[in-house]
This record gives sequence, C-alpha cells and structure tokens, in this order.
Amino acid sequence: MRNYRIGKSVFGKTLFACRDFSPGELIFKGRGRLTRRATKYSYQVGWETHFEPSGAAKWVNHSCEPTMGLKIKAGQIPGFFALRAVKKGEELAADYGTFEYRTSVLNKKRCLCGSPRCREKITGFVGLDPAELGRFKGYIADYLLDKRNIATKSTKKHKTV
Ligand SMILES: [Zn+2]
Repeated sequence: MRNYRIGKSVFGKTLFACRDFSPGELIFKGRGRLTRRATKYSYQVGWETHFEPSGAAKWVNHSCEPTMGLKIKAGQIPGFFALRAVKKGEELAADYGTFEYRTSVLNKKRCLCGSPRCREKITGFVGLDPAELGRFKGYIADYLLDKRNIATKSTKKHKTV
C-alpha cells in the first residue's frame, strides 16, 4: 500500500496521505543528492549543504502548522515523519523553518497555508518564534540547534543589516 500520492492543490503539485499515520511514523525517506547550492526545491541540511530531491520530497509544500516533520542529521538526506496523527487524504506539508536557516530562494513569499498559526511570510528558522520550537521537538534540523553556530550567524546578520 502506498503511503502518499502526488496530487494538486490550488497552489500546484502537492502530496496527500494515502492512509492514516500515527505520530512519529515514517511516511517516506528522501531520495536525491546532496549539493552546496540552494534551489527552489532543495532542503538545507547543514550550514553549507542542501538536499536536492528527485522524488516525492520535491512536492512538499510549506505550512506553518504542518502534518510532517523532518529528521535531519547534519549533511544527510532527511526522512519525512508524521508530526501528529495524520488522516488519509490530508495534505503532507512541512514547516520550512524547521530546516532552512533563511528562505532566501523563496524570497519571503507570502504564506497561504491558512493555519491559525500562520506567520504570513514563508520564513526560515530565523523567523520562527523560539516559543514555538517545542511543537517541533525532534524535527528541527540538528545543524540549526547547534547554539554556537546560531550565535555566530546572528552576529553576522546584525553587522550587515
Ligand atoms: Zn502559513
């Protein structure tokens, strides 16, 4: 039995669950390659490493209240898991802020996820409220949780802005 199907929403191609999932269940493993260049479809998996998907991961849309969480070990291809209980037919989306440091390629596009928690812009980790991190426990790219690196990067940001 398939776990997901590629379908269409008003925003274009997207993934839908083909069955129910329990929280923490693996939905699919990413397929693709690691690269140093960010693209419209890539996932940041390290300070200088991006995962360029060739399979289903290419069609994962952003939601500020998503159904999926990614497990990302620095510099590795991610797995996609049920962040909460997911019902058959629900859209399989992820919060880009849990793996992108900034969403420079998306250029802060307006978010249309429609969730009550919507941040209005598609932001990276820098735009996530620290108080919100708890609900993504276990599903934030581990390179982002390296506090020493975060401190270094934000210092740079303030100097250049
Ligand atoms: Zn949103």
